[in-house]
Amino acid sequence: MTATLLNKGHEAKIIDSDVEDYKNDDIYRIIKEYKPEAIIATVSLPTIYNDCSFLQEICHYSSANVIAKTSISYPPILKEILKKSSADFCIYGECDLNIDKIIGGEERKGTAFLSNGKLEIVENSIVADLDKLPLPARNLIPNEKYHYILLGDKTTTMQTSRGCPYPCSYYCAYPLVQGKKWRSRSPEHVLREIEDIVNNYQIKKILFRDATFTLNKKRTHKICDLIIQKNLKIEWWCETRVDCLDSKLMQKMRQAGCQGMNIGVETGDPEILETQAKIGMTLEKLNVIRNIAQKLGLRLHFLLMVGLPKETKKTLYETYKLICALKPESIGITIVTPYPGTQLYTEAKEKGWIKTEDWSMFDGHSPIMRTDNLSFQDLVKAQRMIYRGFSLSCRGPISWIRLRLLDYCFKRWISQERNTS
Ligand code: SF4
Repeated sequence: MTATLLNKGHEAKIIDSDVEDYKNDDIYRIIKEYKPEAIIATVSLPTIYNDCSFLQEICHYSSANVIAKTSISYPPILKEILKKSSADFCIYGECDLNIDKIIGGEERKGTAFLSNGKLEIVENSIVADLDKLPLPARNLIPNEKYHYILLGDKTTTMQTSRGCPYPCSYYCAYPLVQGKKWRSRSPEHVLREIEDIVNNYQIKKILFRDATFTLNKKRTHKICDLIIQKNLKIEWWCETRVDCLDSKLMQKMRQAGCQGMNIGVETGDPEILETQAKIGMTLEKLNVIRNIAQKLGLRLHFLLMVGLPKETKKTLYETYKLICALKPESIGITIVTPYPGTQLYTEAKEKGWIKTEDWSMFDGHSPIMRTDNLSFQDLVKAQRMIYRGFSLSCRGPISWIRLRLLDYCFKRWISQERNTS
């Protein structure tokens, strides 16, 4: 959005208060000095209350148009944002290419506003051709301050595609935010940005923030070929599904500087995997990919979740066993969050599984949804035991006795379920 504004002759400034460690007063001071005509500030679900009160404060400090930018399109939450923030309107859609018109009031697609207290949502229009996007305005951000734990310091992010067509949209917010239709930038367009990053900013580490980076294998091959041909010595990381990988592609990715991948595994239970979590992916395929990655020196970070509706203590044990057996380099376990707007949210509401609608707890870590089989405490306990199993199994024979003990405790916990039922 900033790059579009600059290209169209406007002046713009980006404030990333997290990395700059700015307090609210610092930002108010900058706003007073800069005197902008419009201020766009992001609002996310778990930080919604702080974000909204910050926006409200800004409305007092400045006569600028105050706009809330969010990826949430669920109407009740849009209304809440508008009411709590006093923002003039919300941008919830893809406004990368027409942000100037939106600020100028000439266009309203992808926005929401209150009219006499009633919420009006103007239909979104997505960017169909992502090659039309300008290169991001990296010159306006403190590039040296960005860090990604799996790649290290001075890492930048790139997005080369949008949308995700997979059926895990049942619980996943990606398709809700970016749509189910997958759109991608051409390999040449992606390369232009990589060259800009390397040559103009001397950045050598890139995190690709696509939902499924290798969805189109041919395109991924081409991107890698171009990186290799241009001899760009970069280290990069991406996120994908195992059914979008194969040995040939992984070799090429490694050659092009790929250090590892976040892999959506979700569960170790084959039935949940095939029916709810990752339709199309199998544990056999995961095993194969794990072996190839190990041989190539590609690190795998497994993304797991506990608490899908079909989950039981036994299926949680399957996840624990899978992690102990495959020993990925790292894991992240979230407790299922029923994001508003997903089918899971509707189902969970109907069944009375959701304990609160305090959105600040919808962060992927707080237990806010129980199921018919598992309580909130069960989910936290399972998350802890799987993490513990992972950490002990990585330590090798030295932790063998502690791992056996943990295994015993896990099995005892499962048998308690049997007794209760
Ligand atoms: S979990 Fe991954 S593959 Fe499934 S819908 Fe979300 S982003 Fe797509």
